[in-house]
Amino acid sequence: MSSIWQSGALPRLLAHVIARLPPRFQKGKMPYAFLFVMLVIGVLLFYTGITPYLESRVLYVAMAAFLAMLVVLVNRGLPLHWAVHMGTAAGTLMLTYAIWRTGGIFSPRCAWLLILPLTPFYTVSRRAGLFWLLAILSTYAILGLASALQWVPAFELDHIHAFSSYVTFSMVTAVLIIVPMIYDRMHVAALRKSRAYQEELERKRQELEHTLQMREHFIATVSHELRTPMNAILGFNALLLSRAQDKPEALKVLNHTRQSADHLMTVINDILDYSQLQTGSLVVQSEAFDLRELVTHAFDLFLPKVRSMSLDYRIDLDPALPQWVHSDRHRIMQVLVNLLGNALKFTHQGSVVLRVQWQNPGVLVSVQDTGIGIPAEQQAHIFRRFAQADSEIQARYGGNGLGLAISQRLVELLGGEIGFESAAGQGSRFWFQLPLQADKAPARRTDAGAEQPPLQTRTRPWRLLVADDHPVNRLLVKHVLQNSWPHAQILEATDGQQCLDMLALGPVDLVLMDMVMPVLDGIQATRRIRAEAAWQHIPVLGLTANVNPVDLQEFRKAGLNEVLLKPFDPAHLCHRVEHLLLAKGGEA
Ligand code: ADP
Repeated sequence: MSSIWQSGALPRLLAHVIARLPPRFQKGKMPYAFLFVMLVIGVLLFYTGITPYLESRVLYVAMAAFLAMLVVLVNRGLPLHWAVHMGTAAGTLMLTYAIWRTGGIFSPRCAWLLILPLTPFYTVSRRAGLFWLLAILSTYAILGLASALQWVPAFELDHIHAFSSYVTFSMVTAVLIIVPMIYDRMHVAALRKSRAYQEELERKRQELEHTLQMREHFIATVSHELRTPMNAILGFNALLLSRAQDKPEALKVLNHTRQSADHLMTVINDILDYSQLQTGSLVVQSEAFDLRELVTHAFDLFLPKVRSMSLDYRIDLDPALPQWVHSDRHRIMQVLVNLLGNALKFTHQGSVVLRVQWQNPGVLVSVQDTGIGIPAEQQAHIFRRFAQADSEIQARYGGNGLGLAISQRLVELLGGEIGFESAAGQGSRFWFQLPLQADKAPARRTDAGAEQPPLQTRTRPWRLLVADDHPVNRLLVKHVLQNSWPHAQILEATDGQQCLDMLALGPVDLVLMDMVMPVLDGIQATRRIRAEAAWQHIPVLGLTANVNPVDLQEFRKAGLNEVLLKPFDPAHLCHRVEHLLLAKGGEA
């Protein structure tokens, strides 16, 4: 039996039958009550066919009809417990009559009476079962009294048979009560166990969630701690580069430092991006941008590297490509740079071709190379994180195996698809398809990547305040600003509170505000600046190594005019500072 149940055949049959019952009998214990009544009606009709007592036939049919009527009434809304009490009362009356006619307290039918309380016991409540048990025992007492006083009509009786059937039915009744009670206890115990298991699972889930949060927090902190010194390294490197143009030896060394620092920055960004993609906190920032310009820019980035190689490095742009499209240009750039970087890394001779085809709508970008290719057995897991074709690749070419995993998730985030074909020793073709649509030109062109015009505000004696707890970063910003505005007075504050104190001392034209600082952080300091009537109009430029989107959003909401991420590009920083100074009304 249990194997039929475990195999699922019986539950399926039961579910099948239940689905076909009248609507009110499909939920909870109703299906079982319905099937039980049908069984009783069937037994009554069967007895009608076989009973030797003619007058009982009418009784059985009447009882079956009454039960059928109760089923109809319950289906129309009669509460189940009412129907059960009415059915049990009718059954008691019918049986009492039958017992009366067949020997009173000595009738074998007496035993049937004992079964009657079972229905209220299971379908209504234990209390209802007990009530009917007492009612039945009272009926027995009345029948016994009536038999003793010889009120019961005479009947041929076999006392031994009557007693034996009475004992049999009592035992069956006891078993029918006890077995389900044991089953019920087992069920409750199993339920308790499963609940405990569920609680344990829930605890584990919360622990896991907590661990994930801790991991995210850890990665964000590490990323912040890495970006802060990188800001100084890249910034001072850029400053030195601009001053060493006439010293070729120094230029060479500085370029090497720059490349290594850039590489380190890519690794830090990759790890951060991957973690944000994992937790779903990376958001797409769409804008209208020039697709041709973006693709060409990505292509051009590798020109210096290709110059030292004997490669046919080409770009093939579909003439049908629209100029303006709407999507996240930085993320598309990231995927392009990763695919081109890989192709050039793994190709020693032949060609690398970047092809962009317009599919109206949508764009198909492919990077085809004649490099080392990827062996068939490695192809299945090439998009997995930290996956490289084999350990020799890592030893020979380096890399962290995150680039393709990130590219795949970014393309999916942008609603596209990425894939590749490759043959070992012959080359690879990596492609991605994005559902881009042609867009209108934006009202104002974004200025990142564009050639910066000379500063108009250079000669004015500005008072600029740099709030940053990191002395090297303050020094860097100070150098960068002083370089561009030689007559400016650069003030320094080591935390938000000091920044406010300095503002109170005298007029300031612009504040460069770090986010994470002791005593009072940049977010709160910015809020206070915006709340003070005298300072409300001072431009505040956020400058932070914290790239967490939620923190950035809060920083912006505090009242920043703009925010730049560290490490920043010195020229870009100066351009943004000038933009804010001009907007404030400081013409040269
Ligand atoms: P990595 O930073 O190690 O290059 P990626 O995720 O970008 O990480 O690439 C994973 C692996 O896929 C590489 O290590 C390399 O084995 C293989 N691969 C990617 N692009 C190419 C290509 N154009 N030619 C050959 N192998 C490639």
